[in-house]
Parts: sequence; C-alpha cells; structure tokens
Amino acid sequence: MTDSLTIRRPDDWHLHFRDDAVMKGVVPFTARQFARAIVMPNLSPPVTSVEGCAAYRDRIRAAVPQGVDFTPLMTAYLTDDVEGDELARGFAEGVFTAAKLYPAHATTGSAHGVTDIARIMPALEKMASVGMPLLIHGEVTDSHVDIFDREAVFIERTLTGLVRNLPELKIVFEHITTADAAAFVDVSGPNVAATITPQHLHINRNAMFTGGIRPHAYCLPVAKREVHRLALRKAATSGSTKYFLGTDSAPHAQSAKESACGCAGIFNAPYALESYVTVFDEEGALDRFEAFASENGPRFYGLPLNEGTITLERGETTVPDTVDANGTTIVPFHAGEILGWVYRG
Ligand SMILES: [Zn+2]
Repeated sequence: MTDSLTIRRPDDWHLHFRDDAVMKGVVPFTARQFARAIVMPNLSPPVTSVEGCAAYRDRIRAAVPQGVDFTPLMTAYLTDDVEGDELARGFAEGVFTAAKLYPAHATTGSAHGVTDIARIMPALEKMASVGMPLLIHGEVTDSHVDIFDREAVFIERTLTGLVRNLPELKIVFEHITTADAAAFVDVSGPNVAATITPQHLHINRNAMFTGGIRPHAYCLPVAKREVHRLALRKAATSGSTKYFLGTDSAPHAQSAKESACGCAGIFNAPYALESYVTVFDEEGALDRFEAFASENGPRFYGLPLNEGTITLERGETTVPDTVDANGTTIVPFHAGEILGWVYRG
C-alpha cells in the first residue's frame, strides 16, 4: 500500500476568488496547495478589459502571503459585444490566459453572459488563430429544460456544432458533471479537454436531500445521478490526458448559502488535494494522480510544468465545520468529515 505520494506541484485550472475582503481571505487557501490557478472572471461587473483584468490580478497578487510562490492565471469574460482584437491583445500581453464563456444567466455572476454563440463567432475565430483557449460553462439556460439535463442539452445544441465548425479552437469543457460530457470529450479531437471538480467525484444529487435540504451540497452545474458520478470517476482516473484538476471552488458566506434562496457554489479550496487524492486512492489509481493534478492541464494550455514537488501522506485530516476567510465565515466541502490523507506541502 502506498502511504506517501510525492508529485510535481499541482495547479487548479478552474477557480473563483471573488474580490475585495473575501478574496483576501480565500487566496491563501489556494496558494498553500497550488502553484497556479485559472481565475474565473465572473465578478460584478465582470472582467472584460485587459486593463481591468491586470488590476484584478494585482489585487490577487497582493493577497498572496509573503514567501508563497503562487501565480494567478487570468481570464476574460465573454459578452455578446466582445472584440476578438481585445482578447488577442490581452493574450499577447500575458494578461489573459484564456476566455470564459458563460451562457447568459447560467450561474453566479453570469447575467452579462453570451446570449447566442453565433454572435461571438468572429471573436472565437480570432482566439483559435492565436491559440487562446476557450473555457465553457456548458449548460443551456432555457428554463424549460430540466436542470439535470442542461449539460447534456448544451452538448447537443451548442458544443457539438462549435467543435465541428471550429476544430482548431482549444476548448475546456469546465466542471463536467455527466457521463454524456465525458463521452463527448473522449470522442472529440485533441483540442477538447475537461476539468472535473472534487465534489462531482464525491457526491451525487442525493447529497442535497439527505435528511433535509443541504445547501452546502448545491453548486452549478448541479450534481447528477450516481451513474454520472461513477462515469466522472472513471474519466478522471482513466489516465486520459484530456482530464485535469479544476476545483471550481466558489466561496459564499455561510449566511448566503443557508438561506431561503441559497447561492450555488461549493468552497473546496482548503482541502482540495486531500479530497481529490482520496478518490484516486479509492479507485486504485494513485499512480495517475500526478498527471491529472500537475501535467495534463499545463500541457493542454501549452504552459511549462511546475518545478518542485508536494507530498501527501496517508493519515487523518479533520475538516472543520467552518473556516474564516478574512472575517467571512464559510462552510468548506467535507465539513465535519475526516479525510484519509494529509497534505504536507
Ligand atoms: Zn466555476
């Protein structure tokens, strides 16, 4: 039995830091475990300009604790009016690493999102020509479509056509939640990859209703049936280079989750690696964890692999009921549980 796992320093390829006081509180959790993170741009207002993005990056850098080596990788928020030249300029200047597509009203902070992908095709063509990845929140927003079907319907209505029409565009299908999404990624060409969150590997939709309504198990895309969770575990641990770590860690105050209209999002940053490695351990795939956490992501993005290593050891990590993020109380993923691995740094 492997009791200790030392891997190249990992990255988080999908993350929400928010801004202001709470951002200052959550950045250290991610910087403690990851060398880099793809920072999502769904602030209010969203991050759309090169200058606005550079300023946001500066605020994040200022929140990284002294002596900690952490690099935020920034993203542009796509709107119907996006200019391909502005994206390409930000990409060339090293400010934008990628651009994020939110279908309008799909999740937190997506009110300014894209209403029809046809409207942004010129910008997507520009991105493809300069090698800038497109990151997609893959759900339709049509309220007539059942919430548990929105990812599968998005593949059918939007993603299949986009990949067919623009095969040279690098696409990350973010936080996939269904067997349908994994099947789509598997059969697509090398320019299509996906991130998978820890929560979608650990919980199915029953978690939201265990003995009552459980707001801390609610995120978007929402957890699906068990058959989908099992398909995601298979994909993540398969050894395919198309899958990589992206936590989608999303901090909301405890009071905003435990409400008559609770926010969507799970805050998993404090124990992300312990959570993921538990899955790989249970699946007998510890030897594949390093590729998922530290290699597949940078290779897809065309970025260098990190230097240095981190170590995880078998042992007990007790996840607290709440964590403090610079004055905001947040309930973390796995609150109150004991995980079977310890992060040693
Ligand atoms: Zn997200």
